[in-house]
Amino acid sequence: MAEYLASIFGTEKDKVNCSFYFKIGACRHGDRCSRLHNKPTFSQTIALLNIYRNPQNTAQSADGINAVSDVEMQEHYDEFFEEVFTEMEEKYGEVEEMNVCDNLGDHLVGNVYVKFRREEDAEKAVINLNNRWFNGQPIHAELSPVTDFREACCRQYEMGECTRGGFCNFMHLKPISRELRRELYGRRRKRHRSRSRSRERRSRSRERNRGGGGGGGGGGGGRDRERRRSRDRERSGRF
Ligand SMILES: [Zn+2]
Ligand SMILES: [Zn+2]
Repeated sequence: MAEYLASIFGTEKDKVNCSFYFKIGACRHGDRCSRLHNKPTFSQTIALLNIYRNPQNTAQSADGINAVSDVEMQEHYDEFFEEVFTEMEEKYGEVEEMNVCDNLGDHLVGNVYVKFRREEDAEKAVINLNNRWFNGQPIHAELSPVTDFREACCRQYEMGECTRGGFCNFMHLKPISRELRRELYGRRRKRHRSRSRSRERRSRSRERNRGGGGGGGGGGGGRDRERRRSRDRERSGRF
């Protein structure tokens, strides 16, 4: 029985847990859903809800024709994407993947999902971002259960044939231009080694300055633990 329950967990057969929340991190019933939305306490992924505004959905001229061309829209989107991606990496830590929904339903419209390499960075980002504003709106950030975007996204949309359009309940992930993709993800791969090394050096010297933590340097695991401990110390000071 337990095995059966585990095998259907988060699928449509699961009458207890909501499969949409489990896979996509958002469900159209929101808090009124009859099935459980199991909010994660740890995750690499965060969701910034309703933060991207597609100018083509808001700017329509009087005759109903889009006032924003496809080229302008893509430029605007690339700029938005680059700004958010860069800020996430600079402030919180390395980003594995970032995705933006082009859906129109209230629970998915403009959602941005950022998957960090480390859970600690995701946690830090959520705490910090919930105190911030973007484009005159308070940011709503939360840890998201989404880990596999292949499971969350709409395959028909990717092939250009989703008949449900913007109100589809799977993610319609809006592609960035090829140049930007190369710039953000390509650059990161090259940068990766030197960056993580300099970060370790930084955190080690921070520890030395505080005079805390014995030994230092040991194995990678020990260093991690040390870093976590020093983070807890920082946190207990601030709150
Ligand atoms: Zn639900
Ligand atoms: Zn779809």
